[in-house]
Amino acid sequence: MANETQTVVEPRPAVTAEDLNPYHIAQRQFDQAVRYIPGLRKGLIDFLRRPARAVTIEFPIETDDGEVRMFVGYRVLHSNVRGPGKGGIRYHPDVTLDEVRALASWMTWKCAVIDVPFGGAKGGVICDPKKLTRNDLRRITRRYISDLGDNIGPHTDIPAPDVNTNAGTMAWIFDTYDMLHPGTNNLPVVTGKPVDMGGSLGRREATARGCLFATRRALARGLVPGLDSVEGATVAVQGFGNAGSIAAQLFHEAGARVVAVSDSQGGVRLDSGLDPEAVIAHKAETGSVIDFPGATNLTNDELLALPCDILIPAALENQIRADNAGDVRARLIAEAANGPTTPAADAILFERGVAVLPDILANSGGVTVSYFEWVQNYENEQWELEEVNSKLERKMERATDAVIDTQAEINAALVNSAGGLKPVDLRCAAYVLAIRRVANIATERGIWP
Ligand code: NAD
Repeated sequence: MANETQTVVEPRPAVTAEDLNPYHIAQRQFDQAVRYIPGLRKGLIDFLRRPARAVTIEFPIETDDGEVRMFVGYRVLHSNVRGPGKGGIRYHPDVTLDEVRALASWMTWKCAVIDVPFGGAKGGVICDPKKLTRNDLRRITRRYISDLGDNIGPHTDIPAPDVNTNAGTMAWIFDTYDMLHPGTNNLPVVTGKPVDMGGSLGRREATARGCLFATRRALARGLVPGLDSVEGATVAVQGFGNAGSIAAQLFHEAGARVVAVSDSQGGVRLDSGLDPEAVIAHKAETGSVIDFPGATNLTNDELLALPCDILIPAALENQIRADNAGDVRARLIAEAANGPTTPAADAILFERGVAVLPDILANSGGVTVSYFEWVQNYENEQWELEEVNSKLERKMERATDAVIDTQAEINAALVNSAGGLKPVDLRCAAYVLAIRRVANIATERGIWP
């Protein structure tokens, strides 16, 4: 018999599954922005939208457990209109060609937003580094790079670190390329190298430091009413690797209170503020941030919904989606990760007044100092850390200003137009800025031949 006091559960409105293919997302973002750039020729749009080249490599490795195993790797060059391709190499079991395509195109727009003379590229190998030895990873790296051959090069396409690769991986990449191209200065073939072999001071921290600089500038420009500084702000960070753990440290040093951090296994929360240094030591000892003494464990979903001023996604794509964007209680999202927010989530956040500093601006500090490293390698120089950081700060501030100004310019123009276009968020503004810059150069150079 039906209980009359029972709450009637309203049927939920049907949710059409979101398309989470990163390449489809990157193309949707591009298509959206192009609507705000009248006068671009259709063929040029098509050219800028698609990757110039995608290479797939399938290769065997003899692993330490005595087996011979096959691996698949990709390298995609999206655009070399503004200069050689530039982009990290990711080792992850979920790598797909479409993910690498998306990441490569985001690099094109990022290099244009931050204004370094590079195009966009990215690489990935489908593998699970947690289940491989250091020797296995060295063999994978060497075979992948040697099979790529001249698809990479100091003037054509220059790799860097990304998820699960680091300075050590870059040292193997340099060494492999150098063995195959003896007798010349090959240091500029890869960035993010160890500092004692041509790496730039400040490169390891650059993605997070750039994110801090962009956030600071955006807050000083009044992006979030009532929050004009990082000092005293509460911050939650998803992902505790290169980008995330250093962002936690740098925001903490800048006077913010880091109330939660997480990694792939889960997260920890402490409202009075975590000491990121101590959490890093705990993760180094135990393999995860969870169970950090004095803090409460929480899930990644809970972290994304935590009340805080600034949320920094610093893990992987598609973390903030249609199904959880409504739960976000941060006032600003600073995207240290690439592609953490889906287009449907962007629309919800914009509607709700949550500002998003988009990946192609907020995490461009990494490629900026990679560019500085490339320049230093050609000059056989090593710049002081202060020089690197102050140049980075100026780049980040200029790019942040340019994106905010572009948004204001587009939205002001809409008021007087009858075109039916909606006001743009900062991501769309950053894309417009980037596409204009790349399209200008493509037009100046002319289409070959
Ligand atoms: P990393 O391998 O150093 O760290 C990745 C971190 O994310 C790890 O702590 C891992 O545990 C965590 N993680 C993985 N899956 C997760 C999940 N589902 N939930 C929560 N945490 C999860 O990688 P990284 O270099 O810090 O890259 C992180 C992001 O930043 C990526 O999107 C990358 O493309 C972007 N990025 C990195 C750089 C760079 O210079 N390294 C530059 C620009 C952008």
